[in-house]
Amino acid sequence: MSQVANPVTDKVKEVFEAVVDALRVPKPEQGSPSAVFQSFEAEALRDEIIRTGRKLWERQYVDGNGGNISCRIGTDYVLCTPTMISKGDMTAADICLSDMDGKIVAGNRLRTSELLLHLEIYRATPRARAVVHCHPPYATAFSLTGTIPPVGLISEYEIFIGPAALARFETPGTQAFAETVLPFVQDHNTILLANHGVVCWSDSITRAEWLVEILESYCKTCVIAGQIGKPLIPIPDQKIQEILALKRRLGFPDSRMSHSMGEDDPAVPASPELERIVRQVIERQEARS
Ligand SMILES: [Zn+2]
Repeated sequence: MSQVANPVTDKVKEVFEAVVDALRVPKPEQGSPSAVFQSFEAEALRDEIIRTGRKLWERQYVDGNGGNISCRIGTDYVLCTPTMISKGDMTAADICLSDMDGKIVAGNRLRTSELLLHLEIYRATPRARAVVHCHPPYATAFSLTGTIPPVGLISEYEIFIGPAALARFETPGTQAFAETVLPFVQDHNTILLANHGVVCWSDSITRAEWLVEILESYCKTCVIAGQIGKPLIPIPDQKIQEILALKRRLGFPDSRMSHSMGEDDPAVPASPELERIVRQVIERQEARS
C-alpha cells in the first residue's frame, strides 16, 4: 500500500525529534565536558577541523606532524588537533577537547603542545574563535629573513590581512613561545613566527585557513614580482584609505587603524564598488571551501 502524506503527522514527528534533540544535546556552554564533546556543534566543528587539516596538507602548508588547528566551543572549551599526527590523516576520533588552561577534558589523544599559543590568542582577543598554525614555505621564508611582507600591492591581501606582524623566535611548544604573539594579536590576524611558520586567527576555522592561503599566495607573488627586476607599483594611497574604511566596517583588524574597531571612518567612506569586490571574494572563497 502506498504511503499517503499526512502534514499533521509529519509536523508532530518533526516537533518530537526537535524535543529529543534538545533533551539529548545541552548547549555547549552549559554542558559537562563529555556533553559538549558529544554535541552536534562539536561534531560539526570536528568535521571542519578535519577538512581544514586536509587542505593544509594538500597545499603543502604542513609537513610531517607539523601545524595545528583549534576552535573555541562555548565559553569554556577548545577543540584542537592532537600531537604527532599528519594534518592530512586526521579522523573525528583524533580531535581533543581542552579547557582554557590547556587540560584535556575529553578525547583519546594528547593535545598539541602548541595549543598554548592558541590559548594565548583566545585569551587576548574574544574575536578569535579559531586559530590555524602551519609552515607554508613562502611566508615562512619571509620569517627566516626577519622580513614582514610589504603592503599596498594587492587589494585582497590589504582587505583580509594588511600588515602582518613578526614575533620573535622562541622554542616551539613552550609558554614563552606562546607569549611571543601577545604584542601583536589585537591588531593583526596574521603573525609570522620567526624561523618557524605562521599563525592566523579568525571567527571560524575555515576563515582562519583562508588567511593562511591569502598570506602564502601573496608572499609567493611578491617573491615572483621581485624576480622580474622592475619596481613594484603600489596601490594609490587614496584607495588604501577606502580599503581601511571598509575594514573598519567589517571589523577586520589592521594596525594602520586605531583600536576603535567596527566604527565607520567619516573621512573616507568605502565605495560600493569595493564592497561588491569583497563580497565576490568571500563568495569565491566559500565556493572553494
Ligand atoms: Zn609549528
